[in-house]
Amino acid sequence: MRTTPQPKMERGFFRAVGGPGSRWLADCTSEEERMERDEAAGENGAESGGGAKGEGAASKPTKKRPVVTEPAPPPADLSFYEVHLQHLAEAIEAAEPSEAVRLILRQPKSEIVVNFPVRMDDGAWRQYTGYRVQHNNILGPYKGGMRFSPHVTQEEVKALAALMTYKCALLGVPFGGAKGGIRIKPWNHSRTELERVTRRFTHDLGNNIGPEYDIPAPDMGTNAQTMVWMMDTYMNGSSVNQKNAMRAVVTGKSVSAGGSVGRDKATGQGVVYAIDEWAEERNFSLDGATFTVQGFGNVGSHAARILSRAGAILVGVNDHTGSIHNASGIDPMALSTWVAEHGGVSGYGRAEACTRDEFFGLAADLFIPAALEFQIGRHEAQLLQVKCVAEGANGPTTPEGEAVLTSKGIEIIPDILANAGGVVVSYFEWVQNRRSETWLLSEVDSRLKYMLGNAWQRMRTFARERGVSPRTASLAVAIRRLDEVYAERGIFP
Ligand code: NAD
Repeated sequence: MRTTPQPKMERGFFRAVGGPGSRWLADCTSEEERMERDEAAGENGAESGGGAKGEGAASKPTKKRPVVTEPAPPPADLSFYEVHLQHLAEAIEAAEPSEAVRLILRQPKSEIVVNFPVRMDDGAWRQYTGYRVQHNNILGPYKGGMRFSPHVTQEEVKALAALMTYKCALLGVPFGGAKGGIRIKPWNHSRTELERVTRRFTHDLGNNIGPEYDIPAPDMGTNAQTMVWMMDTYMNGSSVNQKNAMRAVVTGKSVSAGGSVGRDKATGQGVVYAIDEWAEERNFSLDGATFTVQGFGNVGSHAARILSRAGAILVGVNDHTGSIHNASGIDPMALSTWVAEHGGVSGYGRAEACTRDEFFGLAADLFIPAALEFQIGRHEAQLLQVKCVAEGANGPTTPEGEAVLTSKGIEIIPDILANAGGVVVSYFEWVQNRRSETWLLSEVDSRLKYMLGNAWQRMRTFARERGVSPRTASLAVAIRRLDEVYAERGIFP
């Protein structure tokens, strides 16, 4: 398995509209770390062009803090997309779709790559590469997040786009699957630089996105502010009498700019609804249960806050800055405030620092990975002492890790079910925009709970009937839905 390297803590300005979690991108390092950063930036070449000064333009020296970041697991043999194809093959065997659908699902419909220049605050120019992969749109417009990360590759975006197709099909959302991203270290950039990068990328995508064609949303490294910039750029390229109808070109916007209440926390909320289903089946009380979280951004921090309101106790957190633990409990609200101010969990006073391995070895009932793909390899799975892994992140478990978890009797709530809350509430936002409606939070939450519960039951029934894992069953239910639609519509010409 190829694993995603852990980024070093770096510095820059990034202010989130969509909640404190996304502020991990914020200003956070010492001068030595900054020098290390500049060196690393030169090595990995995620961004090209411009002078060395461009990166530091928005940086300000900050107080030094302890950093417990450790190296990532060793590089993997298979890419994220290749692993996805393995999962797909197992699900196809169980779902038995037509030959044509098997062929169609193996590759995305289109892969767009754009290279574009952006001027930095100091006047230097940089060249960026952005991707948008559109996997399938038989169920409706393409839909999927935009990721800003130095690890973005076309292969990664392909895998994430495919997962979106199955997520929407499983949940009964009338959208297809897409994903996009830019190779960029967002934490190295000022707000104005990020705005120019976002606007230029949106402009270059042109009519490859649109409210009836392909609808982006936030993902790792992006937030409500990013979506508002995308929306505004797209609207300004539309004719005056069409402008307002164009606000549905993105979801995950701030509420003031036309977003939906409840979208910010939706993915974390969905993770908790999925855990509720799992707990109910086992007559397991979440009140007093313990849990750990990897990644304290949008998904991880909201899931932790919502679970703790149900009485569950957060005992450990790992993010790109380090790991912390406290057997008596960590207050997710206080930790969110800390992360918003300091850029990560490292240095949080009301918990002990620990190593990444110690974090994975913490005894708890539940583990929520909510960071990157390929974080639970064989080694991490051997360390885990939990009853259930609820995949808030996309693709956090490697096949080797999954085999170990299964042999230990640890259940996995797969990503396309566990983290589907985001796309479900994105769909609600799109509907509200098109109808000029504003729904109440209670309405958003109850509809989300219903749709997740429904998908859970379909997954469970299939898994029991066919004796397959929740991951295979989730994908197979989605494939059967796609197969039905292709059978009814036929394949043109
Ligand atoms: P985010 O940018 O808000 O937060 C990312 C978190 O991951 C941060 O806490 C960061 O510190 C942590 N992280 C980064 N590198 C790490 C590393 N090497 N080790 C440990 N932690 C690390 O992103 P997000 O929106 O919360 O997304 C997290 C995951 O959830 C991604 O896999 C994303 O695709 C998935 N997801 C997000 C949404 C959404 O609505 N935002 C929806 C579905 C799935």
